[in-house]
Amino acid sequence: MHILVTNDDGVTAPGLLALAQEMRTLGRVTVLAPDRNWSASGHVKTMERPLRVRETKLADGTPALTSDGAPSDCVALALLGVVKEPVDLVVSGINPNANLGHDVTYSGTVTAAMEAVIAGVSGIAFSLDSPEKHGELDYGPAARMAAKVAARAVKEGWPGNVVLNVNIPYMKDGEFKGVMITRQGLRVYRDELVARQDPRGRNYYWIGGEVPTGVNEQGTDFGALAAGYVSVTPLQLDLTAYNAIDTLQQWKWD
Ligand code: MN
Repeated sequence: MHILVTNDDGVTAPGLLALAQEMRTLGRVTVLAPDRNWSASGHVKTMERPLRVRETKLADGTPALTSDGAPSDCVALALLGVVKEPVDLVVSGINPNANLGHDVTYSGTVTAAMEAVIAGVSGIAFSLDSPEKHGELDYGPAARMAAKVAARAVKEGWPGNVVLNVNIPYMKDGEFKGVMITRQGLRVYRDELVARQDPRGRNYYWIGGEVPTGVNEQGTDFGALAAGYVSVTPLQLDLTAYNAIDTLQQWKWD
């Protein structure tokens, strides 16, 4: 099995290194990841400028490729031929924060895996539910869990149009309660507008506020993490609200 490893935090991120190292236990690994942090960049296709790819090395000395494109660009570049050998699986992460509920449309980690699915290759996104305040994160247990989940998923198989969004609690080996298949929960965003003035008297803005929380509901990604389980949410790119079609079809067009 040939596995492409990418992320949205940049090729030097420790979560990527941990994931690449564990994926090597499952197959041959190629890394192509952004040269900078693209967190919360969403699903990007760069069209107005050229994309560069260059060779680099991970902190363990193994070769990697890096691009000035977004995470989804990196996956597209790799699958369109920058990586010569066919790719069987794309894994993205490990993101240092969970990607739950509505986060998935903001997430560079998840949209990288979505790009794989668009190209007809299986995609899995891995994120770590790290505590709000932490020192240096230990990605070891999450990376080992990621390899377990990927191995099981590949063995069992899953529909080709489905992205697996995996969120892993911040725990030590042996503390995980298990793996739960979940649906997207509800994130509670606490965004606040921060309005300031630059030295020339012009307004500028930050979207600030506290980190998001979530609704702890059974069966959801948020609920699984709160109970100490690894959450595996199958996502599809078809965002159609099927239950709204009947209502909208009643609209009068004259
Ligand atoms: Mn990120």
